[in-house]
Amino acid sequence: MEKPYQLIIVGGGPAGLSAGIYAARSKLHTLLIEKAGLGGQILNAEIVENYPGFPQGISGAELGSLMAQQAEKQGLPTAMAEVQGLRIQGKEKIVDTSEGQYRAQAVIIAGGSEHSKLGVYGEEAFLGRGVSYCSMCDGAFFRDEVVAVVGGGNVALNEALFLTRFASKVIVIHRRDQLRATKILQGRAFNQPKIEFIWDTVVDSIAGDRQVRELILRSVNTGEKSSLKVSGVFVAVGLRPNTGYLKGLLALNEGGFISVNGQMETEVPGLFAAGDIRAGSIRQVVSAAGDGATAAIGAERFLSSV
Ligand SMILES: Cc1cc2nc3c(=O)[nH]c(=O)nc-3n(C[C@H](O)[C@H](O)[C@H](O)COP(=O)(O)OP(=O)(O)OC[C@H]3O[C@@H](n4cnc5c(N)ncnc54)[C@H](O)[C@@H]3O)c2cc1C
Repeated sequence: MEKPYQLIIVGGGPAGLSAGIYAARSKLHTLLIEKAGLGGQILNAEIVENYPGFPQGISGAELGSLMAQQAEKQGLPTAMAEVQGLRIQGKEKIVDTSEGQYRAQAVIIAGGSEHSKLGVYGEEAFLGRGVSYCSMCDGAFFRDEVVAVVGGGNVALNEALFLTRFASKVIVIHRRDQLRATKILQGRAFNQPKIEFIWDTVVDSIAGDRQVRELILRSVNTGEKSSLKVSGVFVAVGLRPNTGYLKGLLALNEGGFISVNGQMETEVPGLFAAGDIRAGSIRQVVSAAGDGATAAIGAERFLSSV
């Protein structure tokens, strides 16, 4: 049987790659397992302007690729596989993947999360060209423009309120006639003159040329269609952390995110979580990278204590 690793990192986004860089530089016998492409979800960002070190901004694809190159240069071994299960067996963690089983003394879970999609025509094609899932990432690109936010929960209203700093008008489109957000947030949104609401309505499709120009809306009551001219649409209809295979092993919060302490430790000794997958993350590249570094240092300490 293959010698167990000291550390396995699940996920090759900014959190996992940052953890990998620190672990490799600490000479830990480490393996990073990634199911899709090294770099994580930032690969989808047209431009990143809030990650320090790039005063002109940098494309997400380039940033993700540079992080992967840096991890490789530090000698981090990687495997392409999907992690499907994680078990504790004595002092070892057993990681079951699509390509076989791996064992390690410590594991950092850095699998990120996925935004729920509207699933409508144009959503994928205009990603990064007017369709966004993150106002903090992209809001500043819509200075003095009209934008829409789709959703009716806390995230949607927070997105809408944040966007009022840039946009001339923010139109919240909600499929019901009442919001799910807290009353405090509702009060703030109703009192913000730049925010308008369209109730009982869903987005049917997204249209444009190089950039989003128009949403085709559909009334859920009458089925009637209408057009709404916008330059951008922020989708805030839910976020799913990639923690399905962890149920039963770890206590996950209401949304399925992993609770950790300030050292990124979970309740299971030797099991760490970093990046967007952990409860309370601000879901940015800079925080994911910081979490990854903290988790790797925590893992190193754990390994030297067992
Ligand atoms: C379009 C877009 C634009 C954005 N713009 C910005 C921006 O401008 N600034 C900013 O700071 N942030 C931005 N973000 C957010 C940023 O990308 C995330 O906060 C960051 O990537 C989180 O890093 P992470 O490593 O925690 O997770 P992720 O980047 O999601 O990486 C997780 C990785 O784990 C892999 N994985 C998941 N489950 C498994 C499994 N079971 N087995 C193996 N591998 C698995 C995934 O394939 C993925 O590669 C943007 C996001 C998007 C989608």
